[in-house]
Amino acid sequence: MKGKIIGIIGPMFSGKTTTLMREYDKTKLVGIPIIFKPKIDDRYGNDEIVTHDKEKRQAINCSTSNRIFKYLCDNKLVTDIFIDEVQFFDDDIIEIIDWFRLEGKNVYFSGLNQDYLGKPFYFKNSNKNIGELLCMCDDTKHLSARCSICGEPASKTHLKNQEFNNDDEFNKSPVLLGNNDTYEARCYKHHNKD
Ligand SMILES: [Zn+2]
Repeated sequence: MKGKIIGIIGPMFSGKTTTLMREYDKTKLVGIPIIFKPKIDDRYGNDEIVTHDKEKRQAINCSTSNRIFKYLCDNKLVTDIFIDEVQFFDDDIIEIIDWFRLEGKNVYFSGLNQDYLGKPFYFKNSNKNIGELLCMCDDTKHLSARCSICGEPASKTHLKNQEFNNDDEFNKSPVLLGNNDTYEARCYKHHNKD
């Protein structure tokens, strides 16, 4: 049996978590799926993933990717894993996803492919970015949102009410959690423009 890796990527407000939930719901009919999320993401409840429309599913909150590995070692019957906001994990997540697929099981992840500067999203304290994971995918769904200025398809996350600043080299992928007070979706033309 051969496992697969499916990536769901796009900017904020593109429906990534909703898409992940739909895949989870389908899998639940035929397998034993489980959802993981990074602990950093506590914008909503701790033991669930929640869409911007407030739809919820139960999820295991993990502070490190190694906790996902340990959980899967203890729960061998799990057939499919779903990882929300994968970009907020440490880079061991890459190896764990690869290992789970080698076990003949399936991995679905959702995440930001770019930070608000439009750069590839780097894993926590790492030189590796989301691109490493995207190369391993058997299929990717690249979602788009709507540009808040022109209404055209938007591939970028725009940080509102803040000076555009990309000379902070230490902070490769600035992690600012937020909602629609902090961010909005923009097309390429309107990204980081007033
Ligand atoms: Zn636009």
